[in-house]
Formats: sequence, structure tokens, C-alpha cells
Amino acid sequence: MVNLANGSTLAGLGVAALGCAATTRSADGLFVGVRYRLPVPPAPAFCLGNVIMTRGDAIDPGSSLFRHEARHATQFACCGGVAMIPLYLAAAGVSWVLTGDFGARNVFERRAGLADGGYMDKPLRPALGRVTGFNGSQWLRPPSTRSRAAFSRASFSRT
Ligand SMILES: [Zn+2]
Repeated sequence: MVNLANGSTLAGLGVAALGCAATTRSADGLFVGVRYRLPVPPAPAFCLGNVIMTRGDAIDPGSSLFRHEARHATQFACCGGVAMIPLYLAAAGVSWVLTGDFGARNVFERRAGLADGGYMDKPLRPALGRVTGFNGSQWLRPPSTRSRAAFSRASFSRT
């Protein structure tokens, strides 16, 4: 309903038409556009407003991918509609800088469920791990400062 008011669902239906997707109503007030044909975005499925698009012939409303895309629909509502697109692109850029992957550190993809969307969690790029001492999953320190690292790990785990 919110995405109808903010115009993002209308934008989604427009993009579905441009991509020659056959659009039908689905669960939870969402629309599904199947057999989307435009080359952008390159994802196998994506969401614009309350419209979930897939390049395939169908998307199961009970699937984890559907739930992932439905969370993006909620994000569109929270972001006031198509204003989410530049925010999403910025988040994807940050993720790429940090990990070399557009989804792994993208706040929108993480909150929609990385695994549900087919994304893998990735560590920070090795150069960033050296600068920050943290690679996203563990602390990295040269041997000379290992005891200090152990101390900061210990104090980190207490807080
Ligand atoms: Zn996603």
C-alpha cells in the first residue's frame, strides 16, 4: 500500500512492462513479473516497489528468494520509494570497496537475508584487514603485536 502511494510499485510495473515480463498478483500484496528480458539489473531476480521480477518462469511465494525480495519491497516502503535506488547503489558501492562483492556488506542485502538472496558473506579485502586489523571475521595482527591483539580481543569479548 505504501509503495503504491510512493509510486515505486508503479515504477516496478513500468519496468516489468519494459522488460516484457508477464505480471500477476501474488502473496502479501506483491506482484510478480516473470520472464523479465532486459539485461539490467544483472540479478536473476530483483524487486522494485511491490513488484518482484525474475528472469525465470515463476518464483515460489514460499521460497526463501521470494521472502528476500519481499523484504526489499518493505525496504522500498521505508525509504520512501524510488529514493531507495540511489541508496541501494551507494550501499552496493561501499560493499564492493570493502569486499569486492556488491552484496556481502550491502546493508540492504544483509537486512533482506544474504543467504536467502543467494549472496555469500565475504571477508574484508586483505588490504583493509591489514589497515583495520580485522578482516570481517577475525583479528589480524603481525606477530610482534599478537599479545596486544589478544588483550583487545579479550576486552572486546567482555563488552
Ligand atoms: Zn536482494
